[in-house]
Amino acid sequence: MQADYAGAEAHFLPADRFGYPNNNGHVAIVIHKTGGDPTPESVEQTFLVKGRSVHYAVGQDGRVWQFVLESSGAGGNCCAEPGYDPFWDQYLHEFRDLNFCTISIEHCDPTRDNSTPLTPAQKDASFKLVAYLAKKYTIAPDHIKGHNSIDPPTLCPGNYPWDDLWVYLKGSIMDLTNPTLAQYFTATSNDQWKCKSTGNVVQYAMLQFYRSYGKDAYCGLTYLGLPLSNEIPIGGHPGVVKQEFERGWLCYDPTHVIDHPPGAGDVYVMHLP
Ligand SMILES: [Zn+2]
Repeated sequence: MQADYAGAEAHFLPADRFGYPNNNGHVAIVIHKTGGDPTPESVEQTFLVKGRSVHYAVGQDGRVWQFVLESSGAGGNCCAEPGYDPFWDQYLHEFRDLNFCTISIEHCDPTRDNSTPLTPAQKDASFKLVAYLAKKYTIAPDHIKGHNSIDPPTLCPGNYPWDDLWVYLKGSIMDLTNPTLAQYFTATSNDQWKCKSTGNVVQYAMLQFYRSYGKDAYCGLTYLGLPLSNEIPIGGHPGVVKQEFERGWLCYDPTHVIDHPPGAGDVYVMHLP
């Protein structure tokens, strides 16, 4: 079985003992540090002994191992303890167990108190993995949390570099403080941009995709151009829509009934219809 993330090696734990198949609402990302396990190999051994699990572990050398499918719940975020962040209340109510709605990532730290700084390779791999998951499941930065937000006494994730992560994630998504984008779009709500020259609206998941597509220059404006249509329903597939841009079409298709590009999230670039 292949890893979900192209940058990960597949080291899936035995499915009969680990993970909750097709049981993940993907509402948040939870960051962990290992507090002792120095390598992905030793993380795997610890999981096999203790029966716990996460989706991914990032080694100090930047290797990423996947242990549980993203479509499954993993076994690392159970049990909100007294003093947990009230952010979780809505999801405890909806999902009961936070393993059923979170993707979790371990980071190898050889010290028990999680005080070792991430190595440059580890930090790079971590931020790329977080950005991939955030984009794929439309998870906003305020839904990326540390393990200690669930279990406050824990020293996990220790000195994880949150400020650097926020800067990194902001850099990979364009907003209308960018003067070039502001020449072409106005925000009609938080989740909708209206094109000043064509009058068409880019919204919700399409907008999220447009704002980060290509990850450089002006993202969607550079690689797709201006919207030439609003969203257009695709016949026979309720909830699936397409939208025409100057340089291509986007498709909103969360269950991938039209096409299934490897690694794609809810939105992908589609063939000319
Ligand atoms: Zn943890």
